[in-house]
Amino acid sequence: MNSHWVEIDLAALRHNCRVLRRRLAPGARMLAVVKSDAYGHGMLAAARTLQGEGVTAFGVAEVHEGVLLRQAGIKGDIVVFLGADQDSLPEVTRHGLQPVVFDRRQVAAISRLACQTGIRIGVHLKVDTGMGRLGILPAEVAGFVAFLLDQEGVYLAGVMSHFPMADTADSGPSQEQNRLFAEVLKRAGRAGESGMAAHIANSAALLRYPDVHWDLVRPGIALYGCAAGNDAWAGGDGLKPVMSFKSRIIQVKEVPAGTGVSYGHTFVTSRPGRLAVLPLGYNDGFLRVLSNRAEVLVRGRRAPQRGRICMNVTMIEVTDIPGVVAGDEVVLLGAQQGERISAEEVAGWMGTINYEVLCLFGNSNPRVYVAEEEEPK
Ligand SMILES: *Cc1c(COP(=O)(O)O)cnc(C)c1O
Repeated sequence: MNSHWVEIDLAALRHNCRVLRRRLAPGARMLAVVKSDAYGHGMLAAARTLQGEGVTAFGVAEVHEGVLLRQAGIKGDIVVFLGADQDSLPEVTRHGLQPVVFDRRQVAAISRLACQTGIRIGVHLKVDTGMGRLGILPAEVAGFVAFLLDQEGVYLAGVMSHFPMADTADSGPSQEQNRLFAEVLKRAGRAGESGMAAHIANSAALLRYPDVHWDLVRPGIALYGCAAGNDAWAGGDGLKPVMSFKSRIIQVKEVPAGTGVSYGHTFVTSRPGRLAVLPLGYNDGFLRVLSNRAEVLVRGRRAPQRGRICMNVTMIEVTDIPGVVAGDEVVLLGAQQGERISAEEVAGWMGTINYEVLCLFGNSNPRVYVAEEEEPK
């Protein structure tokens, strides 16, 4: 038995997938983003679950992730957001992955390999329409596409871009960017290329801007039941958080007033009370920056974290929660008896965003999968 673990609710993942698909514009298909081990939820379990829901396109950051998906029996389109370097190209052909491209030499190398192996490789052209990150600029699109279409064995499976501000209150920049994307698609000769998928929308754009869905929509965070950004729909929209982070108390002790707690005695008790010891710490993603800030759930109530969080040990105060004993379950993220600690709340204590909390907790702890039966409709 693990002393701390993340619980992944696959029924909640299925639920979120259905909720999001209902909100797709007519004709748009979902590309489920499962990079970074599905934001800490476990890439293979997440992808299998989503494939079971009928999802036929997946997004990963790197080639090796795509290979793992294929080896686990995932079918359909697998788009590799960071593209493929020379060394990983053989894996791309062997497993039928679709790399993102943004460099002519890259396209030429893919073409050479395609000709050698007799396989046609689909690529997605990444255009920087305002993200200020990966991709060619709109002015380069026409020339790049002409070059690409000349390369044997390579076909344009998609033209994609990304929003930097779909999660902010002002919709102006995203609408303006989508107009530029429409222009880019014209330059890419969208009309001539049947089967070329246009895609730009992430979770925030999926939920807020149906007019930017185009052919493919790429939700990540919303599939995992979390809010994309702080504005507009934090936690709402009928999505269910998929991840919880749990542990069990290993000791409860009565202490007098004036007891210094953990390294540096950054917390000193002001009254007689009870402290409880948790068998986890910053090694498990419960970062030291959370010291004297975080709260956890015990017996459905909030208990404050006390003193410095250590590598493998964390102290909490349970003075105001009657009956706490060693062995009691503790929830560091997620719900317990109607009370909840959200990834957004933890992110606030850590000075970061919910995405980082999911990756950190999820990729630092053993995962336990649950798929509770859904209520009958
Ligand atoms: C990570 C990523 C997404 C998903 O973004 P969310 O905000 O999690 O929905 C979509 N597209 C690209 C290119 C990404 O890198």
